[in-house]
Amino acid sequence: MANDSMLKFVGREQSYPAKRTADERQEDFREIAQRYAVQPAEEQAGRCSQCGVPYCSVHCPLHNHIPDWLRLTAEGRLREAYELSNATSTMPEICGRICPQDRLCEGNCVIEFTGHGAVTIGSVEKFITDTAWENGWVEPLVPGKSRGQSVGVIGAGPAGLTAAEYLRGHGYDVHVYDRYDRAGGLLTYGIPGFKLEKPIVMRRVERLKAAGIVFHEGFAVGDDASLDDLRQRHDAILIATGVYKARAMDLPGGGSNGVVAALDFLVASNRKGFGDAVPAFDDGSLNAEGKDVVVIGGGDTAMDCVRTAIRQGAKSVKCLYRRDRANMPGSQREVANAEEEGVEFVWLSGPQSFDGGDVVSSVKVRKMRLGAPDASGRRAPEPDPAGDYSVDADLVIKALGFDAEDLPTLFATPELGVSRWGTVLVDGKTLMTSLDGVFAAGDIVRGASLVVWAIRDGRDVAATMHKWLKTKAANAKVAA
Ligand code: FAD
Ligand code: SF4
Ligand code: SF4
Repeated sequence: MANDSMLKFVGREQSYPAKRTADERQEDFREIAQRYAVQPAEEQAGRCSQCGVPYCSVHCPLHNHIPDWLRLTAEGRLREAYELSNATSTMPEICGRICPQDRLCEGNCVIEFTGHGAVTIGSVEKFITDTAWENGWVEPLVPGKSRGQSVGVIGAGPAGLTAAEYLRGHGYDVHVYDRYDRAGGLLTYGIPGFKLEKPIVMRRVERLKAAGIVFHEGFAVGDDASLDDLRQRHDAILIATGVYKARAMDLPGGGSNGVVAALDFLVASNRKGFGDAVPAFDDGSLNAEGKDVVVIGGGDTAMDCVRTAIRQGAKSVKCLYRRDRANMPGSQREVANAEEEGVEFVWLSGPQSFDGGDVVSSVKVRKMRLGAPDASGRRAPEPDPAGDYSVDADLVIKALGFDAEDLPTLFATPELGVSRWGTVLVDGKTLMTSLDGVFAAGDIVRGASLVVWAIRDGRDVAATMHKWLKTKAANAKVAA
């Protein structure tokens, strides 16, 4: 009976899977959280009160059937729990690991508001699908009956991969183009292994390859083909290229050796994890070992950089952020993890210059204070007359966020409509761009966002593309 195993939140305490000790974590790039054993997973799932209106699901971008798969887990019906969880998501075990649950499902769990601590939804979700992989319950993707139409997907991140999976399931020939040599987008080369181990991403990619989706890796649209070339080859195109233009910080000394961009640093580290040759890591340019490292920024990218630097054996790691802890965009959970691992946060501080000549040796820092709220509602930082000071730094990592590249120019398609931020404009209903048969999804439409939103967009755009392609095929039949 459901009620025998559920509603246990009063007597049963919230318990996340244990984290490895900070000392242990510093030694490798493995995930920091251990996995639930079967019994604690079932017990934690049983804390759910099976709300009639489940706010957890409402605030999950995928509207996952959370209370239902929690109940199935609590009842020990793990395979059914997996099937239900898989029905709305192409990557549940990835979302379970890296969604900011405190802002989404768990942050809106009613039990959290009663003071008992949210149901540990993300950890249970990860447990369910990891178990499914181990037990061989994750079925191969079965392509639908061939429709004789083909789709080109530009970008093999979560948005592109999700759309590719659903479109292949509908029977289209699907070709995915990516300028990196491995698929996965930021799942592969941005997010570090201590949040998401790479075999977890690669087994998803392999499953898509096994279903006949053709991957063109190392293929940069704009260099290796124009968008028009691809439009000639395919019946429809999806642009899912993400956002990669690092926000600039024009300060004196910004061009010195030792001042590097966050993504270059993270990609180099992830490539080392794959065993690739990375000359810029081996010559020390993108390696924090033995260095005083200063990371500038307060978002998730900055958190990933500071924690990567710790694992590379930095002498010291400081994170400079111009607002305070309460006003930072990054997840508080990640800040806590970083602090445990030895990162020093220097709040209300902004860089003024990178000093030392050709090779940076220090950062001049200006104290800031918070003034009136800005357009985003957050209190805007302003210089504090308390003055400037210097901190030692022989590696400075700039992590100020990302904007869209200039796709109309890159793709040689000036008629592609974009916003003033460079993000691609789509029709709200069809998700089609200004170009007939060219759709767009993920960060390139939203701006820098989250993996779970990219998956949602990939799911939605696959549905609208399917509808459009069916109409195109029907019209062609009538005309013939
Ligand atoms: P991407 O994942 O960026 O994939 C786009 C793909 O398009 C890339 O593979 C790229 O090579 C390819 N591409 C681009 N241009 C071309 C071209 N011209 N030709 C061919 N291919 C091209 N989100 C979370 O939810 N949780 C996290 O913990 C988290 N951590 C993050 C950490 C970092 C360091 C960063 C940078 C982001 C993080 N995010 C996180 C955000 C998340 O990774 C993105 O929102 C998500 O990956 C966007 O998916 P996407 O498919 O739109 O784009
Ligand atoms: Fe929560 Fe993310 Fe899973 Fe949705 S996909 S249930 S938000 S962890
Ligand atoms: Fe269960 Fe919390 Fe969701 Fe309610 S909000 S259904 S208690 S997980």
